[in-house]
Amino acid sequence: MASIFSRIIAGEIPSYKVAEDDKHYAFLDINPVAPGHTLVVPKHEVDYIFDLPQDEYAELMAFAKKVAKAMKDVMPCKRIGVAVMGLEVPHAHVHLLPINSESDMNFFTEKKQIPADEMKDIAARIFNKFEENETSHPEIF
Ligand code: 5GP
Repeated sequence: MASIFSRIIAGEIPSYKVAEDDKHYAFLDINPVAPGHTLVVPKHEVDYIFDLPQDEYAELMAFAKKVAKAMKDVMPCKRIGVAVMGLEVPHAHVHLLPINSESDMNFFTEKKQIPADEMKDIAARIFNKFEENETSHPEIF
């Protein structure tokens, strides 16, 4: 059975998309630890991230880097933090989080309730910046 992330990628389940290419999809986490909390997923469904073939792993991280760049450009934060867990959804993914301190990476914190219009706005800002960077500044990658 397709994972919930494969169903999101297929458009069967709605998501707040922030970036996409032919092999990857990035969208806002539905239970964000912080505003802008993003999941970056390979379209090729593999459970454990470190089981990805070497080239697919490298491509996933290169795509995550571009998403992180767009996030950093539009979200007020010091850094974009990176985490990999995969304990809940058996489809490899990278968490990207706008952070200002170590404590912002706390996944035990109470999840933020962010209104739908704000989620939509955050996703649109990251999406537009990602697209702008792709077309205007390909050299930065
Ligand atoms: P992990 O597998 O890395 O432990 O956690 C999975 C993450 O996916 C969680 O942060 C959870 O909130 C998120 N998640 C689970 N189901 C959905 C969903 O249907 N939509 C979105 N946008 N995020 C989800």
